[in-house]
Amino acid sequence: MTGAPPTVVAVLAGVLGLCVGSFVNVVAHRVPRGESVMRPPSACPDCRTLIRARHNVPVLGWLVLRGRCYDCGLAISARYPVVEAATGALFALAGWRFADRPLLLAAYLVFAGIAVALTLIDLDVHRLPNVIVLPTYPVLGVLLAVGLGGHGLVRAGIGAVVLFGFFFAVAMVAPRSMGFGDVKLAGVVGGMTAALSWGAFLVGAIGAFFLGAVAGVLLMANRRADRKTAVPFGPFMLLAAWASILGASGIGQVYLDRIGA
Ligand SMILES: [Zn+2]
Repeated sequence: MTGAPPTVVAVLAGVLGLCVGSFVNVVAHRVPRGESVMRPPSACPDCRTLIRARHNVPVLGWLVLRGRCYDCGLAISARYPVVEAATGALFALAGWRFADRPLLLAAYLVFAGIAVALTLIDLDVHRLPNVIVLPTYPVLGVLLAVGLGGHGLVRAGIGAVVLFGFFFAVAMVAPRSMGFGDVKLAGVVGGMTAALSWGAFLVGAIGAFFLGAVAGVLLMANRRADRKTAVPFGPFMLLAAWASILGASGIGQVYLDRIGA
């Protein structure tokens, strides 16, 4: 299953990511409100005109319109093209990373789309909706089984159980610091990092707490938060997981080699 050069895979994955990012914008807006992500089609919230197909092209549509509704001139948030571009970039990096393993790439592209959607929703409303997190288990389980085969799949399963269990314990001991949405997401993150290596698992798990602590200190230093402010933890888990998946896992492997694991 090799052939296509990494650059070609990265570009194709990146274009796919731009389109997925456009859909992720819809998901992040509608799922917390309990609305359908399929209907109705996107319309201007002010004048209600449906968005024309040529203006619905990721990033470019917003640039052509200069961030305003074509019909009534209402400002359209820059968040939409930024999310599309970020999803495109993440897909391109994943395409580069897994260019020689297309079946495994499928699993990580699905995880990338889910990661962006959950990050936005957690930042917006401090929730990680079950309707997104729970189906992730069977979907990614099947994709990993196809893409990895036995050995990696067992490691992914153990990683998922271990990180779920650890977060479950933290949520029991310190319920204010951790919600059950985080616990359920921890299983996904544990599985997707351990699927690659134990080094990746370690960096993903420790990295989440490291990034969370750094962000907490920065927010407090800027007086944007005090010790009681609830900072959503999902984005840090997902950011650390992706840093690990895309290369930072090497740090963890060096450590495991040192201790002879
Ligand atoms: Zn309008």
